[in-house]
Amino acid sequence: MSDARLREEICRYGRSLFERGLTPGSSGNISLRLEDGGWLVTPTNASLGFLDPARISRLDAEGRLLSGDKPTKEIPLHTALYDTRSSARAIVHLHSTHAVALTMLPEIDPRAALPPMTPYYLMRAGETALVPYYRPGDPAVADAIRGLAGKYSSVLLANHGPVVAGDSLEAAVFATEELEETAKLYLLLRNLNPRFLSPEQVADLVKAFDLDLPSHHDHDHD
Ligand SMILES: [Zn+2]
Repeated sequence: MSDARLREEICRYGRSLFERGLTPGSSGNISLRLEDGGWLVTPTNASLGFLDPARISRLDAEGRLLSGDKPTKEIPLHTALYDTRSSARAIVHLHSTHAVALTMLPEIDPRAALPPMTPYYLMRAGETALVPYYRPGDPAVADAIRGLAGKYSSVLLANHGPVVAGDSLEAAVFATEELEETAKLYLLLRNLNPRFLSPEQVADLVKAFDLDLPSHHDHDHD
């Protein structure tokens, strides 16, 4: 895909996420890893609803700005996940309501933030890790993401929001949406004693769709 097409894609998905209320104000950011090792990244203080393709930050493989506006200050979240997950081509970070709410509940397992509720959650988002709260700009959040060693494509930052990687921008966006909807389902059903997928049903999905779930690991990551 050409540079121009990729910039258009970032703007199109950004607008779609913003218009559906999935990230308010100038929150949220999107990045794409390019063939030369560089990145396209949404700029700092830019609303995902009103991105200008020409002003998207173009970085080289060392993270230096080549053209466009200054990149988002949250870029360490993205680089930490790219560094540890070689299959990641795109990353979406949002401040989406239900996923943020989920991070504040006391019972959340940091290695499986959501139970296996639907097949599409497992197929698109996999399992989700939760890392502790860090003040915005604290470099320790990147260390926490690196500490997950690339096992998770979706990570929740406590009291902040999801960071989700995909092998394409579309995959990262769809996985983020699936995570948000599953968090919403969890909040709707909390304390109602719902039936989640059984271990046998999860194992069947892992086998049928060759899912790479951290809790069902029988091989090492690349
Ligand atoms: Zn954020």
